[in-house]
Amino acid sequence: MENCLFCTIIRGEIPSAKVYEDDLVYAFRDINPQAPTHVLVIPKVHAASLGAAEQLTDAQLAACLRACGKVAELEGLAETGFRVVSNCGKDACQSVEHLHFHVLGGRAMKEQMA
Ligand code: AMP
Repeated sequence: MENCLFCTIIRGEIPSAKVYEDDLVYAFRDINPQAPTHVLVIPKVHAASLGAAEQLTDAQLAACLRACGKVAELEGLAETGFRVVSNCGKDACQSVEHLHFHVLGGRAMKEQMA
């Protein structure tokens, strides 16, 4: 999508720190990390959020989830653990309207999630 920030990053028009990429998914470091490891996993096809998941194929959605695990492994979090978050809409404070999964790790998380 022309004016979407993350589509612009996928096209390489805005620089990003790539962590992982395959045919369906791009993963890069969050510009404002909230944990020692904070990576965003996004589908290469635009969908605004999980609320628009029907716009993606099952393969595209599954690739995102598989990539979260792959990123955790690449970042050395497989043993210690990690958290995956996807904010959808206003109440969840979604700020970029391109589906993304935050992969967070590198320190013990709080039990409370919200
Ligand atoms: P959310 O608030 O769940 O929509 O998450 C959007 C995330 O994108 C935030 O954590 C931002 O720090 C991150 N972000 C915004 N712009 C960039 C960028 N140019 N490169 C990397 N991360 C970004």
